Amino acid sequence: MENIIKDIDIISSEEAQVCDYKTTEDENTGKTKKIYIESYGCQMNFSDSEIVASIMKDNGFDTTSDFHQADVIFLNTCSIREKAELTVRKRLSQFNNIKKNKPELTIGVLGCMAERLKEKLLEEEKLVDVVVGPDAYRDLPNLVSEAEDGNKGVNTFLSREETYADISPVRLNSNGVSAFISIMRGCDNMCSFCVVPFTRGRERSRDPHSIVREAQELYDRGFKEVTLLGQNVDSYKWSPEENNKARLNKKEDAVSAVINFANLLEMVAKISPLLRVRFSTSHPKDITDEVLYTMKKYDNICKYIHLPVQSGNSRVLDMMNRTYDREWYLERVSKIREILGEECGISSDMITGFCTETEEEHQDTLTLMDIVKYDFSYMFYYSERPGTLAAKKYEDDIPLETKKRRLNDIIQKQSKLSEERNKLDVGKIQEILIEGESKRSEDQLKGRNSANKVVIIEKGNLKKGDYAMVKIIDCTPATLFGEVIS
Ligand code: SAM
Ligand code: SF4
Repeated sequence: MENIIKDIDIISSEEAQVCDYKTTEDENTGKTKKIYIESYGCQMNFSDSEIVASIMKDNGFDTTSDFHQADVIFLNTCSIREKAELTVRKRLSQFNNIKKNKPELTIGVLGCMAERLKEKLLEEEKLVDVVVGPDAYRDLPNLVSEAEDGNKGVNTFLSREETYADISPVRLNSNGVSAFISIMRGCDNMCSFCVVPFTRGRERSRDPHSIVREAQELYDRGFKEVTLLGQNVDSYKWSPEENNKARLNKKEDAVSAVINFANLLEMVAKISPLLRVRFSTSHPKDITDEVLYTMKKYDNICKYIHLPVQSGNSRVLDMMNRTYDREWYLERVSKIREILGEECGISSDMITGFCTETEEEHQDTLTLMDIVKYDFSYMFYYSERPGTLAAKKYEDDIPLETKKRRLNDIIQKQSKLSEERNKLDVGKIQEILIEGESKRSEDQLKGRNSANKVVIIEKGNLKKGDYAMVKIIDCTPATLFGEVIS
């Protein structure tokens, strides 16, 4: 069992992201002060750190990759699983010594953990000076300045309108080829296991014209791929009069020119056929045929959909409050195959050991995986989060060992399916966008095909940002290997 659990810790990829935080890089524009930011958890958080860096830059701060050089350290945190919060606590304890030797250093906790714990964080973590939730980043310069004068501060106000639409993010850790664009904030779904609606507030859609402007600017600077980010992108809905989904739904007859996600996708795709467009995350209850047909219409909209199922059993899905059942989910997958074909990549998120899940219900997840044949999945065991519907209503009654054993079952299944799916690509000609050097050898480059799979090729005369046509000649469960044909 020990070995299996170790494997799970490595393979469960979003957990890996949680431990493997991203930091700021060095930006020297001659500002006198420096901030260092670590981002934990999902891409959304990383994208938020780029907004934070931009706000701080406008207020006299450059970024640094070395926390020893920093005047301000921010940890942009995740609360999605208990382990994510424990990682941040551990990291804070490592910063204790640094703060002792440099008392003027300001330490801030941002993001979901800040929102969830509020003032409590200041009480529990004495080294922390500022606690700021995801909708209050504009207040950061003010709170940091107050902290420099010795006054600790908290702002966890959740807005119904804030989208940071006017802020041009500072690109951090950028490969200069792909960038993330946040298109909406918050979430109006109430999945019973999930803390996001409590930490990120109500769903709001960002002005599509500001999204297109940001994508155009990136393209003009040489970027070749944008990923549109939201907790539930298919639910994107904006009108000039209203950007709050709940209010917009109530007064739809009274507003003009509603733009939905399919419309937005088309607007971004039209910037240039050489700009690839991706998006994440799609919700099975909201993804429409209109979105699928828009994907089909534009070659530069990548044929890849992240469509988290969470469980393959309808009773468990009902308890999770996902608002779809197994049949609905499988119908959406059939539609994807019908409109976009077998080559469209599909990935998922799955949770094992949710409250009351039986062995048979766990088997339903495995059989659903066999039917869908996911290209890859992010897999987790259930972690009860305080304040969620599940924490209030249900007992977290599946023993940890069972949760982990079931997780191992789905990881083994996914590994086989990934290999099976990758083998189907062998012999095919695909277009890839080159992202940079391969980690293993400087004579090789790493690119990505439309279905979001990594393809390794020999370097030749190619470079980062180039498109290349390659023939897939070999694969592992995680990687394709290609030969350049043009
Ligand atoms: N909005 C996305 C959706 O609906 O699929 C997912 C957002 S969440 C940040 C990413 C994933 O974390 C979820 O899809 C779910 O699989 C997992 N997750 C969320 N809460 C969890 C919990 N309490 N325990 C284990 N995994 C959880
Ligand atoms: Fe959480 Fe569900 Fe919203 Fe995704 S859709 S962020 S899982 S509440």
